[in-house]
Amino acid sequence: MAVETRAQAAGAAAERRDRAVRAAVEQGLIDEGSPLVCLLDVAGIRASAAALTSAFTEALAPGTPVLHAFAVKAAPLVPVLRLLADAGIGCEVASPGELALARAAGVAPHRTVLDSPAKTAAELRDALALGIAVNADNRQELERLDALVAAAPTSSPIGVRINPQTGAGAIDALSTATATSKFGIALRDPGAREWLVRAYLDRPWLTRLHTHSGSQGVPLPLIAEGVRELRALAEEINAAAGRRQVDTLDIGGGLPVNFASDEETPTYAQYAAALREAVPGLFDGSYGLVTEFGRSLLAKHGLVLSRVEYTKATGGRPIALTHAGVQLATRTVYAPAAWPLRILPYDAKGNPLTGPPVAQDVAGPACFAGDLLAAARELPLLSPGDLVAVPDTGAYFFTAHYGYNSLPRPAIHGFTVTPAGGVRFTLARPAQSLSDITAEAGAALRDALL
Ligand SMILES: *Cc1c(COP(=O)(O)O)cnc(C)c1O
Repeated sequence: MAVETRAQAAGAAAERRDRAVRAAVEQGLIDEGSPLVCLLDVAGIRASAAALTSAFTEALAPGTPVLHAFAVKAAPLVPVLRLLADAGIGCEVASPGELALARAAGVAPHRTVLDSPAKTAAELRDALALGIAVNADNRQELERLDALVAAAPTSSPIGVRINPQTGAGAIDALSTATATSKFGIALRDPGAREWLVRAYLDRPWLTRLHTHSGSQGVPLPLIAEGVRELRALAEEINAAAGRRQVDTLDIGGGLPVNFASDEETPTYAQYAAALREAVPGLFDGSYGLVTEFGRSLLAKHGLVLSRVEYTKATGGRPIALTHAGVQLATRTVYAPAAWPLRILPYDAKGNPLTGPPVAQDVAGPACFAGDLLAAARELPLLSPGDLVAVPDTGAYFFTAHYGYNSLPRPAIHGFTVTPAGGVRFTLARPAQSLSDITAEAGAALRDALL
Protein backbone atom coordinates (compact mmCIF):
# COMPACT_ATOMS: atom_id res chain seq x y z
CA MET A 1 0.00 0.00 0.00
CA ALA A 2 1.34 3.42 -0.89
CA VAL A 3 2.15 5.54 2.14
CA GLU A 4 0.24 8.79 2.05
CA THR A 5 2.55 11.77 2.44
CA ARG A 6 1.69 14.62 4.80
CA ALA A 7 0.90 16.87 1.85
CA GLN A 8 -1.39 14.24 0.33
CA ALA A 9 -3.19 13.77 3.64
CA ALA A 10 -3.63 17.54 3.92
CA GLY A 11 -4.99 17.68 0.38
CA ALA A 12 -7.44 14.86 1.10
CA ALA A 13 -8.64 16.59 4.27
CA ALA A 14 -9.17 19.85 2.35
CA GLU A 15 -11.13 17.99 -0.32
CA ARG A 16 -13.37 16.35 2.30
CA ARG A 17 -13.92 19.79 3.82
CA ASP A 18 -14.92 21.36 0.49
CA ARG A 19 -17.37 18.53 -0.14
CA ALA A 20 -18.81 18.92 3.35
CA VAL A 21 -19.32 22.67 2.96
CA ARG A 22 -21.15 22.20 -0.35
CA ALA A 23 -23.22 19.36 1.09
CA ALA A 24 -24.07 21.42 4.19
CA VAL A 25 -25.70 23.97 1.88
CA GLU A 26 -27.36 21.37 -0.35
CA GLN A 27 -28.73 19.41 2.62
CA GLY A 28 -29.98 22.54 4.41
CA LEU A 29 -27.69 22.35 7.44
CA ILE A 30 -26.96 26.02 6.91
CA ASP A 31 -29.42 28.54 5.49
CA GLU A 32 -30.96 31.92 6.24
CA GLY A 33 -32.84 30.55 9.24
CA SER A 34 -29.89 28.67 10.71
CA PRO A 35 -26.83 30.62 9.69
CA LEU A 36 -24.22 28.85 11.82
CA VAL A 37 -23.18 25.21 12.09
CA CYS A 38 -20.15 23.25 13.27
CA LEU A 39 -18.77 20.18 11.52
CA LEU A 40 -16.47 17.34 12.56
CA ASP A 41 -14.55 15.22 10.04
CA VAL A 42 -15.00 11.67 11.35
CA ALA A 43 -12.36 10.19 9.02
CA GLY A 44 -9.86 12.82 10.13
CA ILE A 45 -10.44 12.04 13.81
CA ARG A 46 -9.97 8.33 13.14
CA ALA A 47 -6.78 9.04 11.19
CA SER A 48 -5.33 11.08 14.06
CA ALA A 49 -6.22 8.38 16.59
CA ALA A 50 -4.54 5.78 14.36
CA ALA A 51 -1.44 7.97 13.88
CA LEU A 52 -1.09 8.39 17.65
CA THR A 53 -1.53 4.71 18.36
CA SER A 54 0.88 3.53 15.67
CA ALA A 55 3.59 6.10 16.53
CA PHE A 56 3.80 4.75 20.08
CA THR A 57 3.30 1.10 19.14
CA GLU A 58 6.23 1.37 16.73
CA ALA A 59 8.42 3.10 19.31
CA LEU A 60 7.61 0.89 22.32
CA ALA A 61 9.09 -2.48 23.20
CA PRO A 62 6.47 -5.11 22.28
CA GLY A 63 3.99 -5.81 25.05
CA THR A 64 4.57 -2.56 26.94
CA PRO A 65 1.28 -1.35 28.41
CA VAL A 66 0.18 1.99 26.96
CA LEU A 67 -3.01 3.99 27.42
CA HIS A 68 -3.74 7.00 25.24
CA ALA A 69 -6.26 9.06 27.22
CA PHE A 70 -7.94 11.90 25.33
CA ALA A 71 -8.02 15.16 27.30
CA VAL A 72 -11.80 15.55 27.44
CA LYS A 73 -11.66 19.31 27.90
CA ALA A 74 -10.45 19.62 24.30
CA ALA A 75 -13.80 18.31 22.93
CA PRO A 76 -16.31 17.46 25.66
CA LEU A 77 -18.83 15.68 23.44
CA VAL A 78 -20.08 12.18 24.23
CA PRO A 79 -20.16 11.03 20.56
CA VAL A 80 -16.55 12.20 20.12
CA LEU A 81 -15.44 10.30 23.23
CA ARG A 82 -17.32 7.26 21.94
CA LEU A 83 -15.66 7.51 18.53
CA LEU A 84 -12.24 7.82 20.13
CA ALA A 85 -12.99 4.89 22.45
CA ASP A 86 -13.89 2.85 19.38
CA ALA A 87 -10.46 3.81 18.00
CA GLY A 88 -8.79 2.57 21.20
CA ILE A 89 -8.43 5.90 23.03
CA GLY A 90 -9.43 6.39 26.70
CA CYS A 91 -10.21 9.61 28.57
CA GLU A 92 -8.33 12.08 30.73
CA VAL A 93 -10.84 13.97 32.87
CA ALA A 94 -10.43 16.96 35.14
CA SER A 95 -13.87 17.54 36.65
CA PRO A 96 -16.96 15.59 37.72
CA GLY A 97 -18.61 16.80 34.49
CA GLU A 98 -15.86 15.43 32.30
CA LEU A 99 -15.91 12.13 34.19
CA ALA A 100 -19.67 11.94 33.65
CA LEU A 101 -19.14 12.46 29.91
CA ALA A 102 -16.51 9.72 29.76
CA ARG A 103 -18.84 7.36 31.58
CA ALA A 104 -21.76 8.31 29.33
CA ALA A 105 -19.54 7.43 26.37
CA GLY A 106 -18.94 4.00 27.89
CA VAL A 107 -15.24 4.55 28.58
CA ALA A 108 -14.18 2.01 31.21
CA PRO A 109 -12.74 3.20 34.54
CA HIS A 110 -9.43 1.46 33.84
CA ARG A 111 -9.14 3.52 30.64
CA THR A 112 -9.85 6.80 32.47
CA VAL A 113 -7.39 9.12 34.22
CA LEU A 114 -8.42 11.86 36.66
CA ASP A 115 -6.23 14.96 36.87
CA SER A 116 -7.25 18.30 38.29
CA PRO A 117 -5.68 20.70 40.72
CA ALA A 118 -8.77 21.01 42.92
CA LYS A 119 -10.42 17.63 43.39
CA THR A 120 -12.83 17.49 46.32
CA ALA A 121 -12.69 14.65 48.83
CA ALA A 122 -15.94 13.30 47.34
CA GLU A 123 -14.46 13.31 43.81
CA LEU A 124 -11.41 11.42 45.03
CA ARG A 125 -13.55 8.91 46.91
CA ASP A 126 -15.71 8.28 43.84
CA ALA A 127 -12.69 7.87 41.58
CA LEU A 128 -11.04 5.39 43.95
CA ALA A 129 -14.28 3.44 44.28
CA LEU A 130 -14.52 3.19 40.49
CA GLY A 131 -10.85 2.25 40.03
CA ILE A 132 -10.03 5.30 37.92
CA ALA A 133 -6.36 6.32 37.77
CA VAL A 134 -5.73 9.41 39.88
CA ASN A 135 -2.83 11.84 39.74
CA ALA A 136 -2.47 13.89 42.92
CA ASP A 137 -1.63 17.53 42.35
CA ASN A 138 -0.20 18.55 45.70
CA ARG A 139 0.89 17.54 49.19
CA GLN A 140 -2.49 18.19 50.79
CA GLU A 141 -4.21 16.04 48.22
CA LEU A 142 -1.76 13.24 49.00
CA GLU A 143 -2.76 13.48 52.65
CA ARG A 144 -6.41 13.16 51.64
CA LEU A 145 -5.50 10.12 49.61
CA ASP A 146 -3.68 8.64 52.63
CA ALA A 147 -6.94 8.67 54.56
CA LEU A 148 -9.04 7.35 51.66
CA VAL A 149 -6.64 4.54 50.78
CA ALA A 150 -6.51 3.51 54.43
CA ALA A 151 -10.30 3.56 54.71
CA ALA A 152 -11.14 1.44 51.65
CA PRO A 153 -9.14 -0.72 49.28
CA THR A 154 -8.92 0.57 45.72
CA SER A 155 -7.76 -0.73 42.37
CA SER A 156 -6.98 2.81 41.18
CA PRO A 157 -3.42 3.35 40.07
CA ILE A 158 -2.27 6.49 41.87
CA GLY A 159 0.48 8.91 40.94
CA VAL A 160 1.70 12.40 41.63
CA ARG A 161 1.89 15.25 39.14
CA ILE A 162 5.32 16.76 38.90
CA ASN A 163 6.12 20.23 37.63
CA PRO A 164 9.58 19.80 36.11
CA GLN A 165 9.98 23.61 36.08
CA THR A 166 11.58 23.39 32.66
CA GLY A 167 10.11 26.71 31.55
CA ALA A 168 7.44 28.34 29.42
CA GLY A 169 6.54 27.95 25.77
CA ALA A 170 5.21 30.67 23.48
CA ILE A 171 1.87 31.12 25.31
CA ASP A 172 2.25 31.89 29.02
CA ALA A 173 -1.34 31.04 29.91
CA LEU A 174 -0.88 27.51 28.58
CA SER A 175 2.58 26.82 29.98
CA THR A 176 2.34 24.53 33.00
CA ALA A 177 6.02 23.82 33.67
CA THR A 178 7.10 27.30 34.74
CA ALA A 179 8.89 28.03 38.02
CA THR A 180 5.66 29.19 39.66
CA SER A 181 2.96 27.21 37.78
CA LYS A 182 -0.13 26.29 39.78
CA PHE A 183 0.14 22.64 38.68
CA GLY A 184 1.76 19.71 40.43
CA ILE A 185 4.62 19.47 42.86
CA ALA A 186 7.57 21.59 41.78
CA LEU A 187 10.60 19.39 41.30
CA ARG A 188 13.35 22.00 41.55
CA ASP A 189 12.16 23.81 44.66
CA PRO A 190 14.54 23.37 47.61
CA GLY A 191 14.04 19.99 49.26
CA ALA A 192 11.24 18.97 46.87
CA ARG A 193 13.03 16.03 45.29
CA GLU A 194 13.98 14.49 48.62
CA TRP A 195 10.44 15.05 49.89
CA LEU A 196 8.98 13.32 46.85
CA VAL A 197 11.24 10.28 47.10
CA ARG A 198 10.31 9.96 50.80
CA ALA A 199 6.61 10.39 49.95
CA TYR A 200 6.81 7.42 47.57
CA LEU A 201 8.79 5.25 50.01
CA ASP A 202 6.15 5.96 52.66
CA ARG A 203 3.29 5.10 50.28
CA PRO A 204 3.80 1.80 48.49
CA TRP A 205 0.52 2.42 46.62
CA LEU A 206 2.05 5.32 44.68
CA THR A 207 2.98 3.61 41.42
CA ARG A 208 2.84 6.36 38.83
CA LEU A 209 4.43 9.69 38.01
CA HIS A 210 2.70 12.32 35.89
CA THR A 211 3.72 15.49 34.11
CA HIS A 212 2.17 17.76 31.48
CA SER A 213 4.35 20.65 30.41
CA GLY A 214 1.70 22.69 28.65
CA SER A 215 -0.53 23.04 25.64
CA GLN A 216 0.08 24.74 22.28
CA GLY A 217 3.24 26.74 22.06
CA VAL A 218 5.48 24.44 24.09
CA PRO A 219 8.16 23.17 21.68
CA LEU A 220 8.81 19.42 21.47
CA PRO A 221 12.31 19.57 23.01
CA LEU A 222 10.89 21.34 26.07
CA ILE A 223 8.09 18.77 26.44
CA ALA A 224 10.67 16.00 26.06
CA GLU A 225 12.87 17.60 28.73
CA GLY A 226 9.97 17.42 31.17
CA VAL A 227 9.50 13.74 30.36
CA ARG A 228 13.23 13.15 30.87
CA GLU A 229 12.96 14.70 34.34
CA LEU A 230 9.97 12.47 35.05
CA ARG A 231 11.79 9.28 34.12
CA ALA A 232 14.90 10.29 36.07
CA LEU A 233 12.78 10.80 39.18
CA ALA A 234 11.09 7.43 38.67
CA GLU A 235 14.52 5.77 38.45
CA GLU A 236 15.61 7.53 41.64
CA ILE A 237 12.48 6.45 43.51
CA ASN A 238 12.79 2.88 42.30
CA ALA A 239 16.48 2.73 43.27
CA ALA A 240 15.66 4.03 46.75
CA ALA A 241 12.77 1.56 47.06
CA GLY A 242 14.88 -1.33 45.83
CA ARG A 243 11.99 -2.41 43.57
CA ARG A 244 10.07 -1.18 40.52
CA GLN A 245 7.57 0.76 42.64
CA VAL A 246 6.89 3.31 39.90
CA ASP A 247 5.73 1.20 36.99
CA THR A 248 3.96 3.75 34.76
CA LEU A 249 4.83 7.21 33.47
CA ASP A 250 2.00 9.53 32.46
CA ILE A 251 3.64 11.98 30.06
CA GLY A 252 0.65 14.29 29.49
CA GLY A 253 -0.32 15.84 26.17
CA GLY A 254 0.54 19.16 24.61
CA LEU A 255 1.56 18.29 21.05
CA PRO A 256 1.19 21.65 19.28
CA VAL A 257 -1.12 22.06 16.30
CA ASN A 258 -0.37 23.87 13.06
CA PHE A 259 -3.06 26.54 12.59
CA ALA A 260 -1.44 27.95 9.43
CA SER A 261 -2.25 25.25 6.87
CA ASP A 262 -3.91 21.85 6.47
CA GLU A 263 -0.68 19.99 7.20
CA GLU A 264 -0.66 18.10 10.46
CA THR A 265 2.69 18.99 11.86
CA PRO A 266 4.44 18.17 14.10
CA THR A 267 3.32 14.55 13.85
CA TYR A 268 3.01 11.99 16.62
CA ALA A 269 5.87 10.09 14.95
CA GLN A 270 8.07 13.20 15.21
CA TYR A 271 7.10 13.54 18.85
CA ALA A 272 7.96 9.91 19.53
CA ALA A 273 11.31 10.45 17.79
CA ALA A 274 11.98 13.57 19.91
CA LEU A 275 11.18 11.57 23.04
CA ARG A 276 13.41 8.69 21.98
CA GLU A 277 16.29 11.10 21.48
CA ALA A 278 15.82 13.10 24.68
CA VAL A 279 14.78 10.27 26.98
CA PRO A 280 16.79 7.17 26.13
CA GLY A 281 15.08 4.17 27.64
CA LEU A 282 11.60 5.71 27.75
CA PHE A 283 10.33 3.12 25.28
CA ASP A 284 12.39 0.14 26.46
CA GLY A 285 9.48 -1.44 28.28
CA SER A 286 10.65 -0.72 31.83
CA TYR A 287 7.67 1.61 32.26
CA GLY A 288 4.13 1.48 31.00
CA LEU A 289 3.02 4.74 29.41
CA VAL A 290 -0.03 6.96 29.59
CA THR A 291 -0.47 9.90 27.21
CA GLU A 292 -3.07 12.68 27.43
CA PHE A 293 -3.36 14.39 24.06
CA GLY A 294 -6.27 16.72 23.40
CA ARG A 295 -5.77 19.42 20.79
CA SER A 296 -3.63 17.34 18.43
CA LEU A 297 -6.34 14.65 18.16
CA LEU A 298 -9.26 16.96 17.35
CA ALA A 299 -8.24 20.47 16.30
CA LYS A 300 -7.70 19.86 12.59
CA HIS A 301 -10.99 18.02 12.24
CA GLY A 302 -13.43 20.72 13.31
CA LEU A 303 -14.92 23.45 11.15
CA VAL A 304 -17.17 26.38 11.94
CA LEU A 305 -19.37 27.42 9.04
CA SER A 306 -21.24 30.73 9.10
CA ARG A 307 -23.21 32.77 6.62
CA VAL A 308 -22.19 36.33 6.04
CA GLU A 309 -25.24 38.31 7.19
CA TYR A 310 -24.18 41.80 6.12
CA THR A 311 -21.16 43.61 4.73
CA LYS A 312 -20.17 47.24 5.08
CA ALA A 313 -17.15 49.50 4.86
CA THR A 314 -16.17 51.64 7.82
CA GLY A 315 -13.26 54.07 7.81
CA GLY A 316 -12.29 52.56 4.48
CA ARG A 317 -12.16 49.00 5.91
CA PRO A 318 -14.54 46.38 4.48
CA ILE A 319 -16.21 44.41 7.26
CA ALA A 320 -18.16 41.15 6.96
CA LEU A 321 -20.65 40.59 9.78
CA THR A 322 -21.02 36.86 10.44
CA HIS A 323 -22.53 34.63 13.12
CA ALA A 324 -19.18 33.15 14.20
CA GLY A 325 -17.42 35.14 16.86
CA VAL A 326 -16.37 35.20 20.46
CA GLN A 327 -18.89 32.51 21.50
CA LEU A 328 -16.97 29.93 19.42
CA ALA A 329 -13.46 31.35 19.22
CA THR A 330 -13.06 33.00 22.60
CA ARG A 331 -9.29 32.69 22.72
CA THR A 332 -8.85 34.11 19.22
CA VAL A 333 -11.04 37.11 19.96
CA TYR A 334 -9.38 37.97 23.27
CA ALA A 335 -5.81 36.98 22.32
CA PRO A 336 -5.67 37.25 18.52
CA ALA A 337 -1.87 37.24 18.30
CA ALA A 338 -1.60 33.91 20.16
CA TRP A 339 -4.56 32.22 18.45
CA PRO A 340 -4.76 33.22 14.77
CA LEU A 341 -7.31 31.24 12.75
CA ARG A 342 -7.58 30.79 9.01
CA ILE A 343 -10.73 32.02 7.28
CA LEU A 344 -11.82 30.11 4.17
CA PRO A 345 -14.36 31.93 2.00
CA TYR A 346 -17.12 30.11 0.08
CA ASP A 347 -19.96 31.40 -2.05
CA ALA A 348 -23.62 30.94 -1.15
CA LYS A 349 -23.68 27.52 -2.84
CA GLY A 350 -20.69 26.34 -0.86
CA ASN A 351 -18.10 26.56 -3.62
CA PRO A 352 -14.72 28.15 -2.84
CA LEU A 353 -14.96 31.88 -3.39
CA THR A 354 -12.44 33.36 -5.78
CA GLY A 355 -11.51 36.92 -6.57
CA PRO A 356 -8.73 39.42 -5.90
CA PRO A 357 -7.75 39.61 -2.23
CA VAL A 358 -9.09 42.57 -0.29
CA ALA A 359 -8.14 43.33 3.32
CA GLN A 360 -11.33 42.94 5.36
CA ASP A 361 -12.42 42.32 8.91
CA VAL A 362 -14.38 39.17 9.65
CA ALA A 363 -16.59 40.04 12.60
CA GLY A 364 -18.78 37.99 14.90
CA PRO A 365 -22.28 38.75 16.16
CA ALA A 366 -21.44 39.79 19.72
CA CYS A 367 -21.99 43.29 21.06
CA PHE A 368 -18.47 44.45 21.68
CA ALA A 369 -15.98 45.94 19.29
CA GLY A 370 -13.31 43.30 19.74
CA ASP A 371 -15.50 40.50 18.39
CA LEU A 372 -13.39 39.83 15.29
CA LEU A 373 -12.21 36.47 14.01
CA ALA A 374 -9.76 38.19 11.69
CA ALA A 375 -8.69 41.80 11.18
CA ALA A 376 -7.59 43.20 7.80
CA ARG A 377 -7.46 39.65 6.40
CA GLU A 378 -6.77 39.41 2.66
CA LEU A 379 -9.72 37.49 1.19
CA PRO A 380 -11.89 37.71 -1.92
CA LEU A 381 -14.45 40.38 -1.09
CA LEU A 382 -17.30 38.78 0.85
CA SER A 383 -20.98 39.49 0.12
CA PRO A 384 -24.13 38.79 2.10
CA GLY A 385 -25.10 35.13 1.77
CA ASP A 386 -21.50 33.98 1.24
CA LEU A 387 -20.06 31.56 3.76
CA VAL A 388 -16.95 31.72 5.88
CA ALA A 389 -15.44 28.50 7.16
CA VAL A 390 -13.10 28.53 10.13
CA PRO A 391 -10.97 25.38 10.10
CA ASP A 392 -8.86 23.87 12.90
CA THR A 393 -11.60 24.56 15.46
CA GLY A 394 -12.26 20.98 16.56
CA ALA A 395 -10.53 21.40 19.93
CA TYR A 396 -11.14 24.11 22.54
CA PHE A 397 -13.16 26.30 20.15
CA PHE A 398 -16.79 25.44 19.42
CA THR A 399 -16.82 22.78 22.10
CA ALA A 400 -15.81 25.39 24.70
CA HIS A 401 -18.78 27.68 24.16
CA TYR A 402 -18.80 31.10 25.79
CA GLY A 403 -22.33 32.22 26.62
CA TYR A 404 -21.88 35.96 26.01
CA ASN A 405 -24.97 37.78 24.62
CA SER A 406 -26.96 34.56 25.19
CA LEU A 407 -25.69 33.38 21.83
CA PRO A 408 -26.78 29.75 21.49
CA ARG A 409 -24.47 26.79 21.18
CA PRO A 410 -24.76 25.80 17.51
CA ALA A 411 -25.44 22.27 16.31
CA ILE A 412 -22.46 20.02 15.65
CA HIS A 413 -22.64 17.43 12.89
CA GLY A 414 -20.12 14.74 12.14
CA PHE A 415 -19.54 14.14 8.45
CA THR A 416 -18.31 11.23 6.37
CA VAL A 417 -17.60 11.24 2.66
CA THR A 418 -19.00 8.07 1.12
CA PRO A 419 -17.07 6.09 -1.52
CA ALA A 420 -19.42 7.54 -4.14
CA GLY A 421 -18.41 11.06 -3.08
CA GLY A 422 -21.60 11.92 -1.22
CA VAL A 423 -21.54 13.40 2.26
CA ARG A 424 -23.40 11.87 5.18
CA PHE A 425 -24.01 14.09 8.20
CA THR A 426 -24.89 12.81 11.67
CA LEU A 427 -25.90 15.09 14.51
CA ALA A 428 -23.37 14.99 17.36
CA ARG A 429 -24.80 17.82 19.47
CA PRO A 430 -28.12 19.59 18.94
CA ALA A 431 -28.25 23.36 18.77
CA GLN A 432 -29.18 25.05 22.01
CA SER A 433 -32.77 26.26 21.66
CA LEU A 434 -34.24 29.50 22.95
CA SER A 435 -36.11 27.53 25.59
CA ASP A 436 -32.83 25.90 26.66
CA ILE A 437 -31.33 29.36 27.02
CA THR A 438 -34.23 30.72 29.07
CA ALA A 439 -34.33 27.59 31.25
CA GLU A 440 -30.59 27.81 31.96
CA ALA A 441 -31.05 31.51 32.72
CA GLY A 442 -33.45 30.72 35.55
CA ALA A 443 -36.84 30.95 33.80
CA ALA A 444 -38.33 28.56 36.35
CA LEU A 445 -37.17 30.91 39.12
CA ARG A 446 -38.66 34.02 37.57
CA ASP A 447 -40.05 35.47 40.78
CA ALA A 448 -37.18 34.38 42.99
CA LEU A 449 -35.84 37.88 43.57
CA LEU A 450 -39.13 39.71 44.05
C1 LIG B 1 -5.11 20.14 28.91
C2 LIG B 1 -4.34 18.96 29.39
C3 LIG B 1 -3.95 17.98 28.49
C4 LIG B 1 -4.16 18.10 26.99
O1 LIG B 1 -3.39 19.11 26.42
P1 LIG B 1 -3.42 19.29 24.82
O2 LIG B 1 -2.56 20.48 24.58
O3 LIG B 1 -4.82 19.51 24.43
O4 LIG B 1 -2.85 18.05 24.23
C5 LIG B 1 -3.32 16.86 28.99
N1 LIG B 1 -3.08 16.71 30.31
C6 LIG B 1 -3.43 17.64 31.20
C7 LIG B 1 -3.15 17.41 32.63
C8 LIG B 1 -4.07 18.79 30.78
O5 LIG B 1 -4.40 19.73 31.67
